[in-house]
Amino acid sequence: MTPHPTQTNTVLSQQDLLEAGLNRGPADNPPREIPRLIGMDLAALEAMLADWGEPAFRARQLHSWIYVHAVRDIEAMTNLSKGLRNRLHQDTRLGQLELVDKQISRDGTTKYLFRLQDGNVIESVWMPFQERESTSICVSTQVGCAVNCGFCATGKLGLKRHLSAAEIVEQLLYVRHDSGQPINNLVFMGQGEPLHNYDAFIEALRLINQSAELGMRHITVSTAGLVPQIRKLADEQLQLTLAVSLHAPDDDTRNRFMPINQRYPIAELMGALQYYYDQTHRRLTIEYILLAGLNDSDAHAQALGNLLETLHCNINLIPYNPIGAEYGFKRPDRLACLRFKRTLEAHSRHKVTIRLERGTDIDAACGQLANRHQAPARS
Ligand code: SF4
Repeated sequence: MTPHPTQTNTVLSQQDLLEAGLNRGPADNPPREIPRLIGMDLAALEAMLADWGEPAFRARQLHSWIYVHAVRDIEAMTNLSKGLRNRLHQDTRLGQLELVDKQISRDGTTKYLFRLQDGNVIESVWMPFQERESTSICVSTQVGCAVNCGFCATGKLGLKRHLSAAEIVEQLLYVRHDSGQPINNLVFMGQGEPLHNYDAFIEALRLINQSAELGMRHITVSTAGLVPQIRKLADEQLQLTLAVSLHAPDDDTRNRFMPINQRYPIAELMGALQYYYDQTHRRLTIEYILLAGLNDSDAHAQALGNLLETLHCNINLIPYNPIGAEYGFKRPDRLACLRFKRTLEAHSRHKVTIRLERGTDIDAACGQLANRHQAPARS
């Protein structure tokens, strides 16, 4: 009988250890993960503090400091005992975003560039609307993006990785702290396709709604049109607003700059949008970026009106914001945009608006700021 290795004096090779699942050398021990407070919900904080012998109300206080007051420093949690603050310093970290760059536009729009723990960078945009006395934040959900819309700087990065729910939520908390103002609206419209990172997006949504106390009706998620995920989101029956980047009324036009259309053509997308409305009774927002000579003719406007005839939606026209001549797209002039709007209104019963431009004097288009700070992913 062959003796069991432990019954002999044989020294086990590294290969033996690996095969036995026993690769426990000090060099291979993973570093101890320090828990991050941002990303933990009330139940998780309660469990952690109960473990430390703290009463339940301490978890509620801590939860409020993290998500409602959005403090960036454990020392600012003044109603926690000194002993508890010391323990939090020692055994946890608050979050992980590090500010790398911040640009403030003449209209107050502020772009934040954050470095993540692994060195990747993402951006968030904060917009104050004086006339409405409200503020809005646009957050990222991925580093880069796999969808590769032809006119988008982020698409050129390729997908580097999904963000965690904590990384998504921390953008809101950081900006809430830095701006010193309440944030009234949140849009998932930064880098990435939120529905491609579905589980983290839903988890972030739950934390933003339940912990950071932002109402669902003040949240918008924008998608390029991932049909199965739109149907899945419909089944969640949430009261958020779904914005869909349609950008063309027919497959031929859409295929020219939205590769996702080959996977989920317009007829399938329209079926999913109708399903979304049937499940949620929430009016959709149709986003339509105006590209000179590509999708901005009278015929396109008319076809768009016909396509959306029975859908409950508002239509938001977005004059293209050029990100570089090499992309090959041009912005229609103001008259062409107004003409498109009028033609569409004549063939549609929906409310049509032209998006108010923000931050045009800083790196305004989605992904521009981050693109200057990181190289494209290899394909
Ligand atoms: S527009 Fe949105 S979905 Fe399209 S490539 Fe850019 S980030 Fe991705």
